[in-house]
Amino acid sequence: MPKTIIVSNRLPVKITQEEGKYVYKSSEGGLATGLGSIYKEGDNIWIGWPGMSVPNTENRKDITNHLAEENMRPVFLTPTEIEEYYEGFSNETLWPNFHYFNQYIIFNEELWKAYQRVNKKFAKEIAQVLEPEDTVWIHDYQLLLLPQLVRDFAPQASIGFFLHIPFPSYESFRLLPWRREILKGMLGSDFLGFHTYDDMRHFLSSVNRLAGLGNSNSRINVDNRKILVDALPMGIDYDKYESAASHPETLSREVRYRTGIGNHRLMLSIDRLDYSKGIPQRLKAFELFLERYPSFREKVSLLMIVVPSRDQVGKYKELKEEIDLLVGRINGNYGRMNWTPIHYFYRSFPLTALSAFYRMADVALVTPMRDGMNLVCKEFIASKLDKRGVLILSEMAGASKELSDAILINPNNIEQMVKAIKKALEMPESKQKTNMETMQRSLKRYNIHHWVNLFMERLSTVKNEQKALETKQLDNQYQQQIVNDYKAAKKRLIFLDYDGTLVGFNSDPLECKPNKELVDILTKLTTDKKNRVVVISGRGRDTLEAWLGSFDIEIVAEHGVWIKERKKKWRTITTLTDDWKPEIMKVLEGYVNRTPGSFVEKKDYSLVWHYRKVETGLGEERTRELTSRLKYATGDKNLKVLEGNKVVEIKNSEVDKGRAAQLWINNYPSEFIMACGDDWTDEDTFRSMPKNAYTVKVGNNSSAANFRVAEYTDIRVLLKALTK
Ligand code: UDP
Repeated sequence: MPKTIIVSNRLPVKITQEEGKYVYKSSEGGLATGLGSIYKEGDNIWIGWPGMSVPNTENRKDITNHLAEENMRPVFLTPTEIEEYYEGFSNETLWPNFHYFNQYIIFNEELWKAYQRVNKKFAKEIAQVLEPEDTVWIHDYQLLLLPQLVRDFAPQASIGFFLHIPFPSYESFRLLPWRREILKGMLGSDFLGFHTYDDMRHFLSSVNRLAGLGNSNSRINVDNRKILVDALPMGIDYDKYESAASHPETLSREVRYRTGIGNHRLMLSIDRLDYSKGIPQRLKAFELFLERYPSFREKVSLLMIVVPSRDQVGKYKELKEEIDLLVGRINGNYGRMNWTPIHYFYRSFPLTALSAFYRMADVALVTPMRDGMNLVCKEFIASKLDKRGVLILSEMAGASKELSDAILINPNNIEQMVKAIKKALEMPESKQKTNMETMQRSLKRYNIHHWVNLFMERLSTVKNEQKALETKQLDNQYQQQIVNDYKAAKKRLIFLDYDGTLVGFNSDPLECKPNKELVDILTKLTTDKKNRVVVISGRGRDTLEAWLGSFDIEIVAEHGVWIKERKKKWRTITTLTDDWKPEIMKVLEGYVNRTPGSFVEKKDYSLVWHYRKVETGLGEERTRELTSRLKYATGDKNLKVLEGNKVVEIKNSEVDKGRAAQLWINNYPSEFIMACGDDWTDEDTFRSMPKNAYTVKVGNNSSAANFRVAEYTDIRVLLKALTK
């Protein structure tokens, strides 16, 4: 049975050495709990670093064997690897870049090399256990290259990736010298999950600008593979925090703490030591609050927990010193014998202590400068059994997208934070309860288990979509089959698109005349009396006539507006009108005026707005505007608006290549039918073909065709093979 492999930098276990023996303690983090329902089942497995350096081979074996019993598999890393890949590239290059602290980035080629090496090391470990049909779920910024590394040796595998930190805007991401390699790594996935829609849209924008890949309906086509991107905010283990809040240990702690700090009202903040958390800004806001509103002095205290983290790293050391100074200054200035403004703890606490803090707090101050999600604010909400309490939340935290009933603030706006603190402390209880209830309902529903199920469901959805769209590579064997059927047939019908299929794509549309090779191919094809060859193109009839008129060939021009059968005159397929053109032309000209590099192509029964020379992104933006504008302008005119490869085309809705092709299918029954094309307009042709037809798509995009080749030159090879 196919299995699921979870991969993250750290395994969900803490190993310590006591009297020479290893002691194993399961991690209680939300992710470990959520994924517990997966990795502990059957042959499923979690691969990651066990959290300590183990140089001795015997000890490694012991640890590996012990972890295997718990469905875990360690990746052992050397102290240098940890220093360069984890503390270095992950935490001092990617972390600041992804959190918009670009002035803190360390750009170092050696660290990048270590990051690549360790990602490969993880890939090797996966290769040991992976079977072709398995699912792999990779987590977070330490392993951005891993999806593609796995794809390289397991092309069929289902690979999901979730990023737990923000994905930065293109303007930030482009600063990294290795941005393309990083994206390529991520694009090895089938499904990519982010916490928020903003993260997802930043990612799509970087993919568009750096890899030149567009997207539609959150799907990207990469090397023949359709991949899905979605926003999937991670939840907490709601029940765990809800029940911890009534645990006897929590309640007795609360009594003890209350006795210690007295009856003052309490504001709470809990973070890891990190510059992204906005701790100094928060302290300054509290200081200003005390200065501005003396009536709150001796009444409100801030309980501030800072969990030690990376404090040997320069920036973190400086941050710690800054916090120590600020706390000292505020307590020194405002403290009284019976009141301490800030109760500050630089250490971590067990769950029951945190739960008691959450219960006691009147206000939670969660004010990061940037945070992928932030779980503390969600845990605070889940712990509020009496539904009293107010959350002040930074709009820079992913959680703010779900918790709109919190008081949302911008952490750079100290004035706003001061006002928010006052508002929170003065909020009537009835209002607190209504807000709290709404947030609790939402967090209860979108909990960690929901998140895990949804992730798996999205991954399998895209995998199924890929299967349904399978277009086989036209290899030698299939090509031979086509040749054999061609030779055996007495009547043949061959539909050929022109640009991109018979000739390469050229930015100058006049440079695409048939060259000698193509002339030879078409001559051979059209002089065989068993063949009817139909060139079916979007180009105007004059060009096609000029280039192809000398062959015994049939032509469909302007996607089906004009047709020319053998030895007959040009005619239109239906009674078409073009009286709509002046009005639409006015709209399009407005867009040409505002968009340097764009132009309008006029055809008999259609107008095309081209933007292939417009600045990347601007053309797409204008297209969105234009298509929605055209929706109204074309509503009563029997027109359709089609978006193509850097074009928007407006044409009569009766016209498409498929309808034109139908005419030949109906009038000229043939034993051998083949259609070749490269873009979205050819999909209509493919779909109109009978079941026994051969349909061949040029390029990587998903297609209704049954075969695919890489380039127009492959079509020439195929046509030559037919006529040999
Ligand atoms: N936490 C903890 N012990 C502590 C303080 C906090 O285990 O003494 C936990 C807290 O309950 C939360 C996590 O650490 O689940 C912090 O997650 P968050 O997303 O808020 O921030 P991160 O540290 O991941 O950036």
